[in-house]
Amino acid sequence: MKKNVVIMFLGLALLGMACQSQKNKEEKNSETFQYVIDRFADIEIMRYQVDNWDKLSLQQKELIYYLSEAARCGRDIIFDQNGKYNLTVKRTLENIVNTYSGDKNDDNWKAFMVYVKRFWFSNGMHHHYSNAKFYPEISTDYFENLLNNSSENDFPVATNQSFGDFKKWVTDIIFNENIEPLKICQDVKKDLVTNSAVNFYENVTQKEVEKYYADLKKNDINANKEEPISYGLNTKVTKDKDGRVVELPWKVGGLYGPAIEKIVYWLEKASTVAENEEQKNHILKLIEYYTSGDLKTWDDYNILWVKDVNSLVDYVNGFIEVYTDPLGQKATWEAVVNFKDLENNKRTELISENAQWFEDNSPIDAIYKKKEVKGVMAKVITVAQLGGECYPATPIGINLPNANWIRKHHGSKSVTMSNIMYAYHQARMKNGSAQEFYYSEKEIELAKKYGYEADNLQVDLHECLGHGSGQMLPGIEDGMLKNYHSPIEETRADLFSLYYIADDKMLELNLLPDPEAYKACYYKYILNGMMLQLNRINLGDDISQAHMRNRALIANWCYENGLEKNVIEKVMKNGKTYIKINDYVELRKLFAQLLAEIQKIKSTGDYEAARKIVETYGVKIDYDIHKEVKERFAPLNIAPYGGFINPEFKIVKKGDKIVDIQIEYPNDYTQQMLEYSKKYSYLP
Ligand code: ZN
Repeated sequence: MKKNVVIMFLGLALLGMACQSQKNKEEKNSETFQYVIDRFADIEIMRYQVDNWDKLSLQQKELIYYLSEAARCGRDIIFDQNGKYNLTVKRTLENIVNTYSGDKNDDNWKAFMVYVKRFWFSNGMHHHYSNAKFYPEISTDYFENLLNNSSENDFPVATNQSFGDFKKWVTDIIFNENIEPLKICQDVKKDLVTNSAVNFYENVTQKEVEKYYADLKKNDINANKEEPISYGLNTKVTKDKDGRVVELPWKVGGLYGPAIEKIVYWLEKASTVAENEEQKNHILKLIEYYTSGDLKTWDDYNILWVKDVNSLVDYVNGFIEVYTDPLGQKATWEAVVNFKDLENNKRTELISENAQWFEDNSPIDAIYKKKEVKGVMAKVITVAQLGGECYPATPIGINLPNANWIRKHHGSKSVTMSNIMYAYHQARMKNGSAQEFYYSEKEIELAKKYGYEADNLQVDLHECLGHGSGQMLPGIEDGMLKNYHSPIEETRADLFSLYYIADDKMLELNLLPDPEAYKACYYKYILNGMMLQLNRINLGDDISQAHMRNRALIANWCYENGLEKNVIEKVMKNGKTYIKINDYVELRKLFAQLLAEIQKIKSTGDYEAARKIVETYGVKIDYDIHKEVKERFAPLNIAPYGGFINPEFKIVKKGDKIVDIQIEYPNDYTQQMLEYSKKYSYLP
């Protein structure tokens, strides 16, 4: 799946994925609900709300509860997959947090706790994003003091180890820069397997692994070339006692067996309260797969799962993503439990239903329009629980399954997580970036009132219609624009959405509440393209990422081409640069004009024109503006990365019978981590 991960830098505009608006939610929650609950190192911890929980039936609540337990039971797996020492280090750190008898108010302890929190956040010793090992900002002497003044019996000392040896060993693992410096090695000149800390391979070299799988595929007499299984997806590769390369599957009775048995236990419970036969069947198929470890069963499961589009409740649970394996075949364990966000689904349905109208009325040359256009439907979900690799750092959208042949023949589920998105939005509105960079209170008010809805509608239009609109002239292919294909394609989809978000059709379809609402989106888009997004780039560098190039291209092109009519203005106040939009109607005309031009470049495969427009407007940065943006962002101390703690479920019983399940929102990150460790530690 393509995961959409948010880097939470800015009061940033578009995140480059589909997501939805949530009417009236702002008024309902934003003032009273505390989203951000912790901040340390480069990380911010938030909570998300599970909207419409009370509209679920008791049976659906039970189903979510059981699936959520299954999501928690795999927690140890992800720590172990990320590195073979992680579980030992985790038990060591947690024993100190729980039993250290010394001073817990001094700076050393605080620095130690920052390390522990980072360790939990990354599910191990390596940064979740950069993959580099990070270290506690304390001395080894202080760490020894922590070890000496905590409950000795509760440390994970090996049977053949003295406590003294254990202390030396664990200190070395945490502090020594030569032990597992990188989670994933990407230097192709090196052995990617032996130089990566990830625990998918042991005692084998990259060559041995590659030969093993090449032979396996060659000799697989049952192989179906049209429907290849995902070789190696759910196994660790090592050597047996005779030195032969072998695979050890992660399954009931295999590696990670004790945790997987618990997952299966809760999945079985879930199957008894499934909403329908379809859903029950894929839950049972997943259990069958966890029990056998058979990858053909995994494919069968995915086909059943992707075809279940009618159930309200849904989940992801399994060994799924292969990003963490330097060879791209072993999957990390992850889980998400969710249910459909019905209100927001209505919106994407509405947009898709009207796809032809949008195509017919688009401001591009008629020869580039599609005669018949089909909108893409994205499912919008409310997350109820995150687990494994999706916890605490979560994607905001997922697209599964991964096997290409299943996607082609049976389809895929593209989902966006509306309540996670909303929590991010709320956190951003309060991080101070709008107050620092927006031209006046008027723009801030607009953003508060309509920003979330308008931005998300823009992304919907981009995803559901923008990419699918227009057509190529005969004989023209995407590849002709080469390295400019991506920025041009993203520019096109963005312009399509920007043009339409200001259309009366939005009010007619009831997609926006007010004729002014689109202005919130326009302002943020231009400000982001001209200034805010520059904060993510090192001073002196060019813009290289495709989405960032497209935003700069649109904003800078509109600024320059609107100069005569003073559409967008740079205003200096107290030595600071502000962006002011003087004429929103003219700005929309500029979007239309640029869309026509970009569509022509795409439809005719005009490489030279693509190169010229991208290089002129989307790559170079004005040094002084760049420097100013970075200087103004610095004191805001905005966390680049965010993650979430989960809600808790409270079971209400009458006698033995469950009569309700209520949802609660804890606000202590450390406490949730310690509780999970106490309740869900199933691996040695
Ligand atoms: Zn796009």
